[in-house]
Amino acid sequence: MKKIPPVDLARQYKEIEQEANQAVLEVLSSGRYINGPVVFQFEEEFADYNNVSHSVSCASGTDALYLALRALNIGDGDEVITSSFTFIATGEVITRVGATPIFVDIEAETFNCDCALIEAAITERTKAIMPVHLYGHAVDMDCLMDIAKRHGLYVIEDCAQATGARWQGQRVGSFGDMGCFSFFPTKNLGGCGDGGAVTTNNIDLAKSIRMLKEHGSIERYRHEEIGLNSRLDAIQAAILRIKLSHLDQWNENRRAIAQAYNHLLEHIPGLSLPQDKSGQGHIWNQYTIRVDKFDRDQLREELEKKDISSMVYYPIPLHLQPVYQNLGYRLGDLPISEKISKQVLSLPMFPNLSSEEQERIAYALKELIV
Ligand SMILES: *Cc1c(COP(=O)(O)O)cnc(C)c1O
Repeated sequence: MKKIPPVDLARQYKEIEQEANQAVLEVLSSGRYINGPVVFQFEEEFADYNNVSHSVSCASGTDALYLALRALNIGDGDEVITSSFTFIATGEVITRVGATPIFVDIEAETFNCDCALIEAAITERTKAIMPVHLYGHAVDMDCLMDIAKRHGLYVIEDCAQATGARWQGQRVGSFGDMGCFSFFPTKNLGGCGDGGAVTTNNIDLAKSIRMLKEHGSIERYRHEEIGLNSRLDAIQAAILRIKLSHLDQWNENRRAIAQAYNHLLEHIPGLSLPQDKSGQGHIWNQYTIRVDKFDRDQLREELEKKDISSMVYYPIPLHLQPVYQNLGYRLGDLPISEKISKQVLSLPMFPNLSSEEQERIAYALKELIV
């Protein structure tokens, strides 16, 4: 039997092969590989898609987050509150600008930061909150924006896994001061290489990001700040324009696949299935179950033997990462993140996963558990 991968990028490419090939060839023959017109077209379309007035592209989701912090002048002595249950990049950029990440625990049901705990973590040094819309499920942005407003804090949304996701009908990346997106190939809007973007409704922030990503320069060879070289390649922009035009359909397919999984797996004891608590806005970048009553890693190995891939995002919460030992967190400090990092298992999820494959996955899980 053919192995079921966690994501099948080649299968997705087949769907857009002709369009994508043509767009890439056009860039190649145009000779404009850096900042060509296609990059600006993509930026405009991406801003429209997210219902914001500006979008600035860059080289990765990590850079998008870093640029956002820099544009707000967050640095030495500042604190930024974020979720412990996320990819390292979210914490890494806070540290890289010289600020201190303050990690808070999550809600078990949505895997997202717990609003009440965010408020409790605010100090005089707090400058910003960085909510992470994990797995494509939006954070409760009513609660989060309310806290930010009352305490005068900036909000930088980590939308790396959530292009097109909504909270109560509104797109993520349009709530806070800035939204930061990743186009890493396995993200729900992924290029054929690295890429990222920052969205904002604030023209001054958009200008700052544009300056910082081009060596701190507005006028050529005149440098206002120490910036970086962080650009989205024209070839990637051309591919992303095509993928963006399919994104709503692909997100719909993911939604249907998630519903089918919920139906297929509902009677298996010892598994908790993911829910959409965002008002139908989940885009299911991951379909992540919690294995409560068995050894998750063993289950994963058994699935592997049946040619079914699965992934663990993430086995170690950030507050317990070796690199953050200096921050002084201890085992037990963020109990839900710690427990859930041992339970989560992301099943294969991509827009053209077939129903036969889904049935095979569900059957295998039933066989192994019941
Ligand atoms: C992927 C990811 C990033 C980083 O994006 P890159 O494009 O890989 O740099 C940041 N935050 C989260 C939550 C991610 O999943």
